[in-house]
Amino acid sequence: MTAPWTYPDFDDHEGVHLFRDAASGLTAVIALHSTHLGPAAGGTRFWHYADPADAITDALRLSRGMSFKNAMAGLPMGGGKAVVLADSLRTKTPEMLAAFGRAVEALGGRYITAEDVGMSDADMVAISRETKHVSGLPVAAGHAGGDPGPTTAKGVYLGVRAAISRGLGKQDAAGVHVAIQGVGSVGGGLARLLAKDGAKLTLADADAKRAKALADELGATAVAAADIMTVEADVLSPCALGAILDERSIAALQVPIVAGGANNQLAAPADADRIHARGILYAPDYVINAGGIINVALEYLGQGDRAEVEARVAKIPERLDQIWTESAASGVPSAVVADRMAMKLIGRG
Ligand code: NAD
Repeated sequence: MTAPWTYPDFDDHEGVHLFRDAASGLTAVIALHSTHLGPAAGGTRFWHYADPADAITDALRLSRGMSFKNAMAGLPMGGGKAVVLADSLRTKTPEMLAAFGRAVEALGGRYITAEDVGMSDADMVAISRETKHVSGLPVAAGHAGGDPGPTTAKGVYLGVRAAISRGLGKQDAAGVHVAIQGVGSVGGGLARLLAKDGAKLTLADADAKRAKALADELGATAVAAADIMTVEADVLSPCALGAILDERSIAALQVPIVAGGANNQLAAPADADRIHARGILYAPDYVINAGGIINVALEYLGQGDRAEVEARVAKIPERLDQIWTESAASGVPSAVVADRMAMKLIGRG
């Protein structure tokens, strides 16, 4: 196995922990990018990777993204991320979740987990039997916490509206055409919020039935997953997986705005320049999608209630505006402006 520090995405991680539990079949990576601002917080992804090296790269990129996200959201948390390597059938057992909980516990509170793609709040409950360093657990109404998806969707919705205001000069989303890639927890929630505003929606999902069902419910149009990135619209909102913006896809975009919830949307650092050079208003992913972590961080810290979560999520548009203003003034791509701000906050600027 190649040492994690030789990976291009290593970026001075404080630690990369590899776990294997033969009895349950658990194989997991927990990457801790920075604990400068507090314990490293970030969800657990349960995913099948053809090559385990891809799982390490994913953990490294996602973990660094969490450092930046938590810092930019003003949370007293560092950045980390866990990846559980699933088999091709995505078999998940109680024993595997228990072993993963013990792995989190072994890090003694340096890492705090929650849901990410492939993990549910019921999984978090199972993990919480082995460790207290877990968030995203079911909570009573009015409390901070629980499934981060809906709060992420709310923050992305507010960010999309900010982008519409900045990029199109419109005060709301009525009649604005938004193409959403991935209509799971985040993309589906976003679609529902935008539909209430009277936006025109085009939806796609790898699970075509899912996209079709939501489109029927909301009076939207469903297209094939392969076509969503080239739909001519006002906004493209990537809400599936990362690395979808690369040289080829950016050249083919037919939108003036890209603003969505997926983590790590830019495939490579040069893609920040490419999207900027095309004059597309880009919402840095970890700024617009911070709603979920705000929700689970306040739950973990025992600070504040649902109203406090909403108040903090409502600040996402301000932060985006600050980044776009600085980008416009300096000519530096918005993604680079955000990275520089975040690096300063985590003591690496
Ligand atoms: P999810 O699993 O609920 O939904 C993802 C959806 O994307 C699924 O319906 C899946 O079928 C679809 N999909 C996968 N590949 C696709 C493709 N190539 N084209 C179209 N659709 C595709 O996950 P989620 O919680 O909604 O997360 C979506 C994204 O948002 C991820 O990148 C995640 O890391 C990011 N994110 C989620 C949260 C959260 O709170 N859930 C917070 C921050 C960021």
